[in-house]
Amino acid sequence: MSHALARIQDRIAVAEARAGRQAGSVTLVAVSKTQPWEHIAPVLEAGQKVYGENRVQEAMERWGPRREGLELRLIGPLQTNKAREAVDFFDVIETLDREKLARVLAEEIQRVGKAPRLYVQVNIGEEVQKAGVAPSEADAFLAACRESYSLTIEGLMCIPPVGADPAPYFASLRAIAARNGVEKLSMGMSDDFEIAIAEGATSVRVGSALFGDRHYG
Ligand SMILES: *Cc1c(COP(=O)(O)O)cnc(C)c1O
Repeated sequence: MSHALARIQDRIAVAEARAGRQAGSVTLVAVSKTQPWEHIAPVLEAGQKVYGENRVQEAMERWGPRREGLELRLIGPLQTNKAREAVDFFDVIETLDREKLARVLAEEIQRVGKAPRLYVQVNIGEEVQKAGVAPSEADAFLAACRESYSLTIEGLMCIPPVGADPAPYFASLRAIAARNGVEKLSMGMSDDFEIAIAEGATSVRVGSALFGDRHYG
């Protein structure tokens, strides 16, 4: 049994109840990027099925041999030359953030004959170092994804600026989703997932609070 997993699940349940939301309405995405296998194994054994990874190659190496029954989400930047593998391998791609990628994903979805669920990443704090479409361009980008490329957009994803109160950023992502008829919100990480749940997150991406600090190679 993974005590860390049980603790995070409890905290999610408390946050759901506090926000007056239904129990189980928030999906925990366990962010396993860069973690050694001995940190992941107990969480997997305890029944966690949904994992987030930042890199296509790393995800395929780690999860390829034990892919069955899991939901894998790409939460890191996607280069167009990796789009084919990503469409083939992931259940969800959360980092659609530019028109060229929308075009290539649409081509690959057509070719492979299956579509991952797609989230558009919004650069909610308009930070130069962060990926994502600008909030002011989100409506037009979503329209282009739907109309020009026939993509179904399931949700929006964001990473608020470090060190700022994240609540207004989460609220602003929720507003963009609402006015565009987008259902899901991927927001909240180890330090702020309870706030994200209060602001309407439908999935939270939790890494270090679940697995311990990351080990960068
Ligand atoms: C690494 C990462 C996370 C997890 O971050 P923690 O603070 O360790 O929970 C969540 N989302 C994205 C996009 C990440 O890159």
